[in-house]
Amino acid sequence: MEILVGNRATVGGGDVVRLLPKRAHRTIGAWCFADHFGPADVDEAAMAVGPHPHIGLQTVTWLFDGEALHTDSLGSEQLIRPGQLNLMTAGHGIAHAEQSPFGASGALHGMQLWVALPDSTRSGDPRFEHHASLPEVALPGGDGHVLLGSFGGATSPARADTAIVGVDLTVRAVIEVPLDPAFEHGVLVPREAVEVDGVRVEPGTTAYLAPGRSSVRLGVPASGAGPARVLLLGGAPFDGEILMSWNFVARSRVELDQAYADWADVGSGRFGEVRSPLARIPAPTR
Ligand code: MN
Repeated sequence: MEILVGNRATVGGGDVVRLLPKRAHRTIGAWCFADHFGPADVDEAAMAVGPHPHIGLQTVTWLFDGEALHTDSLGSEQLIRPGQLNLMTAGHGIAHAEQSPFGASGALHGMQLWVALPDSTRSGDPRFEHHASLPEVALPGGDGHVLLGSFGGATSPARADTAIVGVDLTVRAVIEVPLDPAFEHGVLVPREAVEVDGVRVEPGTTAYLAPGRSSVRLGVPASGAGPARVLLLGGAPFDGEILMSWNFVARSRVELDQAYADWADVGSGRFGEVRSPLARIPAPTR
């Protein structure tokens, strides 16, 4: 097991802990980005991420608490709540915005995850899907929601273009968590410390598990702090090298340069238009 320590970052004025990518592991399966945001009081720190583009990836939005409104250039407008999944497949190009809905209050807390698309679909048409509920699995010592892929005999209905798994696991006692030996895995620890094979793993870190394992033992530390919630992300080691820059996942500088140029040229039409009260986010200067 390797412990990967997350970094603090700022997104749309809000503080996040970036758990992926890490230098030692740019990807875990096709998972290429993971931010943990909140919990934050919406009255003080509402989500307000204006229209911005993506290519070559899927965005996976998962909330622990609160609500968020997604709009995109396909015309989608979708409110998401805890237990629900928003999955946006960028393909060759899409733009979207995310904000706290009007009148929202209370806490906002969740994960923003990206999945790199394989060569077979990364230049395809953009798509958006919302899953109002996901399969739930019960294990001795805990339970989980299956976001992507298959776990514990349940399979998520969400689109998966590579061999991948994503599970939100609530650890209540000791769980022997089944793993696919063909996958590498990360146990992402957002908020409550957990024990991974008896080793205490702190919030803001990831326990990386190399391929070849058929299970991992998760438990709550003896302090009696109550259940711990973790994300188990895994997949077949990604085939090929990805190049990530800003909101783009590509394979070459030429592709990245073209994506930056097409976002700067509003008339290009590549990313479409998003109906949003928020301002379009210009690409950072490189
Ligand atoms: Mn985005």
